[in-house]
Amino acid sequence: MNATEASGRPDPAVGLAEVRAAIAAACLRAHRTPESVTLVAASKTVSVEGLEPAVAAGQLVYGENRVQEAQGKWPLLRERHPEVEVHLIGPLQTNKAKDAVALFDVIHSVDRVDLCRAIARRCAEQGRRPSLFIQVNTGAEVQKAGVLPQELDALLEACRSEYDLDVAGLMCIPPVDEPGEPHFEVLAAAADRHGLKSLSMGMSSDYARAIEYGATHVRVGSAIFGSRA
Ligand SMILES: *Cc1c(COP(=O)(O)O)cnc(C)c1O
Repeated sequence: MNATEASGRPDPAVGLAEVRAAIAAACLRAHRTPESVTLVAASKTVSVEGLEPAVAAGQLVYGENRVQEAQGKWPLLRERHPEVEVHLIGPLQTNKAKDAVALFDVIHSVDRVDLCRAIARRCAEQGRRPSLFIQVNTGAEVQKAGVLPQELDALLEACRSEYDLDVAGLMCIPPVDEPGEPHFEVLAAAADRHGLKSLSMGMSSDYARAIEYGATHVRVGSAIFGSRA
């Protein structure tokens, strides 16, 4: 029995092939090149041994939700595979900014001024500059991370002028019980208005649609690694 079978999860190479084909098809429909979309494999709850077959299948970009879980997995995986890139896609507490700046290549969940300040300070201390996305709470859900759409302009301005942080793009997680399209549209329009080139949107259930709306980064977990139940 191999590690994948032992974990009770499907072989990620199979899901990866399907997702890559669906990304290529969506790009064709949207008159985009497949290279314009980065597949971020959402690897929360997947163990180091469960990730190895995905890396072997050529998947080099991963997204983790929690700093602590990522710290337990990625130093070892990076030692084995220096070419991998790890993104933080879950919410970030200010007191974890130091560890997050040290570990991640990209942070998708910047959503408030005190976090910008903490990230800027840790970047200066560590001489690192992870790429940053601002998470927008497009559904204005009370429990959800992300800056409210009407507060985005002020946050971007603070990032740029007060903290000298380069913002690469915007990220959103639409409400689970709503179609994603209106949220993708709002996020794409906001990015366009601010001259931001990257859009992190779309998950297993809707990444193909997100690509048609301009997603440059799709965060796909269960379609690759199986359900997390
Ligand atoms: C888990 C997660 C994903 C991937 O979700 P799936 O539905 O499994 O594809 C994407 N983005 C974020 C922020 C996540 O936490």
